Amino acid sequence: MHRPRRLRRSAALRNLVRETRLNTHDFILPLFVSEKIDKRRPVPSMPEVFQLPVKEIADEARRAQDIGLQAILLFGIPEKKDQRASGAYAEDGIVQKALRAIKSKCPDLVAITDVCLCDYMSHGHCGVTRIDGDHFHVLNDETVELLVTTALSHAAAGADMVAPSDMMDGRIGAIREALDANGFGQTGIMSYAAKFASVFYGPFREAAESPPQFGDRRTYQMDCANADEALREVALDIKEGADIVMVKPALPYIDILWRVSERFGKPTAVYHVSGEYAMLKAAVEKGIVDERAGVLEIMTALKRAGADIIITYWARELAQWLRE
Ligand SMILES: [Zn+2]
Repeated sequence: MHRPRRLRRSAALRNLVRETRLNTHDFILPLFVSEKIDKRRPVPSMPEVFQLPVKEIADEARRAQDIGLQAILLFGIPEKKDQRASGAYAEDGIVQKALRAIKSKCPDLVAITDVCLCDYMSHGHCGVTRIDGDHFHVLNDETVELLVTTALSHAAAGADMVAPSDMMDGRIGAIREALDANGFGQTGIMSYAAKFASVFYGPFREAAESPPQFGDRRTYQMDCANADEALREVALDIKEGADIVMVKPALPYIDILWRVSERFGKPTAVYHVSGEYAMLKAAVEKGIVDERAGVLEIMTALKRAGADIIITYWARELAQWLRE
């Protein structure tokens, strides 16, 4: 008779044989900085998540660092949007200003920037669009050119790592080459390598003010039904020079996370997205789930499934809970 329950008999025994342990250093905190506000503004569908003005962003980053976090992922909301996403790569763009403020106050904090055009495009798509009659196209190579320009301007403003989230083909290679050619050989790339078209991004679009004005993102983000294709996407990004590969969203794609981590053995990140956050928060508000226990279980599951890095809106709370 085998008695596995012997090792579950007490908290100390369970601790002794626990396979997966969370650490504050596992987490990246997403931050939203907006040019349109002068005091912090709550995101209605995401309790305890705020858009911050530039003047508050460095203090917020410092607070994150003070509680033990060591990396942030920065998203910008510009004052004006246009058809060329010019705010994305402007020298005095919102992310560029925020980066300089953050790096002057917290030089050791790992500042990662989201590189995409959707927040800066008047139509809200992640790339340059062309409309033929009632069809629209997101033009791949024209978009990659602007993404490269954006990544270079983030690197120049102090980004430690850029995180292209657009899902255009060939952008990792193009960005890597441009960074190297311009003296940013040490600026890393965390690629949104397997990013699926998902209903769970809804609240984020409210936070980043980036919903597409027409059509959807299914011609560039991945079909949720495809796992082998996700592995091909990840392989391409690694070949093109990605330092860290990401799977997004998290829980509904935990099989992809596992396969990516097993197959490639690269530093693997997962983005626990806004809709996943909002769902659990709603359950907590209704008294259905205990927040702390629920979040710890989810994060442990993601790490167990192969995540080396977890991007989560609960990063601050996790830092606190893990210290207690
Ligand atoms: Zn985008």
